[in-house]
Amino acid sequence: MSIQIFGLPISRGVAIGRAVLIASSRVDVDHYFVAEEQVESEIGRLRAARDAVAEEILALKSDLPAEAPAELAALLDVHLMLLHDDTLSEATKQWIEQRHYNAEWALSAQLEVLARQFDEMEDDYLRERKADIEQVVERLLRQMAASAGRGAPAAAEALAGARDFGGADPLVLVASDVAPADMLHFKRSVFTGFVTDVGGRTSHTAIVARSMDIPAVVGAREASRLIRQDDWVVIDGDAGVVIVDPSPIVLEEYRFRRRQSELERARLDRLRHTPAVTLDGVPVELLANIELPGDAPAALEAGAVGVGLFRSEFLFLNRGGDLPGEDEQYEAYRDAVLAMRGLPVTIRTVDVGADKPLERMSAQELRHEHGLNPALGLRAIRWSLAEPGMFRQQLRAILRASAHGKVRILIPMVAHLGEVRQVFEAVARAKAQLDDGGFAYSRVEVGAMVEVPAAAVMIDRFLRHFDYVSVGTNDLIQYTLAIDRADESVSHLYDPWHPAVLGLLSRTIEAAGAAGKPVCVCGEMAGDTAFTELLLAMGLRSFSMHPARVSAVKQRVLRADTRQLAQRVRAALDSDDPALEWSGRRSS
Ligand code: PEP
Ligand code: MG
Repeated sequence: MSIQIFGLPISRGVAIGRAVLIASSRVDVDHYFVAEEQVESEIGRLRAARDAVAEEILALKSDLPAEAPAELAALLDVHLMLLHDDTLSEATKQWIEQRHYNAEWALSAQLEVLARQFDEMEDDYLRERKADIEQVVERLLRQMAASAGRGAPAAAEALAGARDFGGADPLVLVASDVAPADMLHFKRSVFTGFVTDVGGRTSHTAIVARSMDIPAVVGAREASRLIRQDDWVVIDGDAGVVIVDPSPIVLEEYRFRRRQSELERARLDRLRHTPAVTLDGVPVELLANIELPGDAPAALEAGAVGVGLFRSEFLFLNRGGDLPGEDEQYEAYRDAVLAMRGLPVTIRTVDVGADKPLERMSAQELRHEHGLNPALGLRAIRWSLAEPGMFRQQLRAILRASAHGKVRILIPMVAHLGEVRQVFEAVARAKAQLDDGGFAYSRVEVGAMVEVPAAAVMIDRFLRHFDYVSVGTNDLIQYTLAIDRADESVSHLYDPWHPAVLGLLSRTIEAAGAAGKPVCVCGEMAGDTAFTELLLAMGLRSFSMHPARVSAVKQRVLRADTRQLAQRVRAALDSDDPALEWSGRRSS
């Protein structure tokens, strides 16, 4: 029977595919596709693990002391029986043969199927056998990891290899939660859409997902429980709806909508190389947000005229405490600069913390493990200033990259003037160290992100020190409205149209204009066409967004007249309901 699940739309379009559920196993599981000629050897691995586990259980049984309760031996017999049962061994084999899943993935997929069947059983005794099947599968997985001679990589890393397999049906990813850095691994994978149970619209997981430019829904609470492995799923990324097992008529409707949105994309694509100039002749700078140097070609391809935000922290995440050294960072920044072929690249110093912890941890785990609110903790510039050696190392790496093109430094989450002073001291020391070492670097502008209300409130003082500012609306909204941006339970209160948010935003743009300093918006609002005219009306002339959003925003810019828009902005800012005021006027 078809069911609908509601979540938050984060990336437009329609995806239709079979669900690949990333199970939350207690053992990290390899997930990758195997080639046709490897199917037999993969089944062989499964068989070998089964035989080894059978031996292990038999040995356990024979070692049981005479006084051990009889139930223990009986339990081991149950495990042996489950191990050889067709619903486990045969069905797992089929996942390998038919879907080309590797053995570990096939096992965890089949465990999902069996666990649900046990959950649905009426009989209490039988229902409790679920724990036994889980234990048996866990033994098998451990056995396979041990014989592979290493700990299995996490799901996402291994799934990066998924692009190598051209399976018959399109696949969509369904997970309870995916950490931002893990999401990055899916960028070049086979998935045509994805759904997660948790996450807010501007959580970093959602941001990375949006940069993949595939239909996606987050915060779909029960999705990973309600969707089964291999179910057909429609992801409506416009409405934030997931339809499981759709009827033929619904499927037809969505196929039609998918074609329409593909046509629309193709139309927008034609604007890629058109200069972004308004009807009244005002040039507007459309820049790209990137996570890794490898994203730079997509930014160029999309027609961005530079990188407005390189989230450098993605070089630092999930490395088990081994941070990238100066040379490694320098090479990454240099690669991005060279890839942008003379266009400016704004490199933000590391912004770890909050929903981007250094160690591998999903937002959900983070919430459970850290009782305190990490969004208000040691994150971004606070962390950098707490690790001065690391900070200077990053500054040196960025400065060295400036020898290859136009580079700007961007400092995240500044709130205190004391931090401003420390930043400039660190930059000066980094330069002195480079001078001593004979390294070349060019003039580099230093800018601040305006994402803490304090920075927006005292923007004039910040502007005296920095060469430019860039508004991080994702955090500015989070901190102004006291809404954790990663928490779906308060996502209905996360409102970019809130008068307080718009007030701070417009005040920042105005103050920068008055001070003659450049101002950009690099939060998600910049790539959301619902705000393009409003931001232009406030005087914004520089927007930074996912490469995939550049054409759509450009279309709005090309149709805008800044003189007319400017006349309407005051009423929207003064209104109790700016969204209504702005859209009402627009349609009149
Ligand atoms: C922001 O806060 O708007 C921003 C661009 O930074 P991030 O999303 O990485 O926190
Ligand atoms: Mg931010």
